[in-house]
Amino acid sequence: MNTTLAITANTQHYLALEEKYGAHNYHPLPVVLTRGEGVFLYDIDGKRYYDFLSGYSAVNQGHCNPKIIATLINQAQKLTLTSRAFHNNLLGEYEKYVTTYFGYDKVLPMNTGVEAVETAIKLCRKWAYKIKGIPDGQAKIIVCDGNFHGRTINVISFSSDATAKNNFGPFTDGYEIIPHNNLATLEKAFQDKNVAAFLFEPIQGEAGVVVPDDGYFKGVRNLCTEYHVLMVADEIQTGLARTGKMLACDYENVRPDMLILGKALSGGVLPISAVLCDDEIMMTINPGEHGSTYGGNPLACAIAITALQVLKDENLSANAEEMGNLFRSELKKIKSPLISIVRGRGLLNAIVIKHNNPDAAWQLCLLLKENGLLAKPTQGDKIRFAPPLVINKEQVMECISIIDKSLKSLIETSQKFAVLS
Ligand code: PLP
Repeated sequence: MNTTLAITANTQHYLALEEKYGAHNYHPLPVVLTRGEGVFLYDIDGKRYYDFLSGYSAVNQGHCNPKIIATLINQAQKLTLTSRAFHNNLLGEYEKYVTTYFGYDKVLPMNTGVEAVETAIKLCRKWAYKIKGIPDGQAKIIVCDGNFHGRTINVISFSSDATAKNNFGPFTDGYEIIPHNNLATLEKAFQDKNVAAFLFEPIQGEAGVVVPDDGYFKGVRNLCTEYHVLMVADEIQTGLARTGKMLACDYENVRPDMLILGKALSGGVLPISAVLCDDEIMMTINPGEHGSTYGGNPLACAIAITALQVLKDENLSANAEEMGNLFRSELKKIKSPLISIVRGRGLLNAIVIKHNNPDAAWQLCLLLKENGLLAKPTQGDKIRFAPPLVINKEQVMECISIIDKSLKSLIETSQKFAVLS
């Protein structure tokens, strides 16, 4: 099976530039994009696509959301960066806004998602030594098998993905990996008095949208409280209305001790991330112990306020829930032999492809692209379907027919098609 598709000379030109001058640390689909609006992306030849990745869930509010772009332009003309050596008139406003929005005492602003994860880990360790009384240098953080929290050396130290770790050692200590969605193993891990925190993704995104059992978040909350361990939710991908609630933990009305946000905190405009927690944890950090030149810059603060406001004003959680339910139920009706699983919550969804060719998911993404929908495989055989949350019913239905048509042509183009038993 090989789905060879026409690539225009125009596209080829840009692919060749990246191939020659850029590091080969990604394997993108062969499409060159120049414009985005709402749920759509447009390539250099003017072809329109539904965006079913949303910048890995950074563009929840839709591409070039007019309110976010207006804030960007307006603030960029006034002040963009002061560094934290001085105060600026937007940092405090943003800090008040975001802490009130999520109900925490304080926020620590950063830029990329992985920086916020690193920040959270530093806070957990400080808290472990200063508050919990764990002996210096012995704090342990429990994480889950299949996790994805970013790609710094420290964060890949506790990855279970060989590709992420290969030839990057030596790694950092202080982590224990347990199975995802398993409260019994979590409780076993908590028997160690030096456990400071449990860091987890409420739904594992990069692993292929792995949704835990109902009751899992409540169970985690109870165990963390019982064993005096910090519950740290990495909602960088699941948060900000993506799963049909403002936070995925809201499904069980659970409040983590520490909340990590990124991606859609800017609506895809700038890298903006944040760690939120209460004073007992946040006040363990003193001046000079942590920071970032760009963290909390006035441009980011202005954009984040608007990005969060748009989520509420446009009821994007409710729309994600409704459109997600519609999408999954229509997807299940397709009944293709190529789909073994449909799963997800809200508009964070994935299918698992069943085929004897390990390249089948990639081939399907090429066909989806040809038919006007952009999605990307994860972990080889899974395809994430996560459009901007502004998608409407007609658009969902059109996407379902694109997916149906692409699945059918994958079967047709497949010379030696054989479904795994
Ligand atoms: N945490 C989660 C759950 C993520 O999904 C990601 C990115 O996909 C990150 C952390 C890292 O974010 P960034 O790529 O902005 O560093």
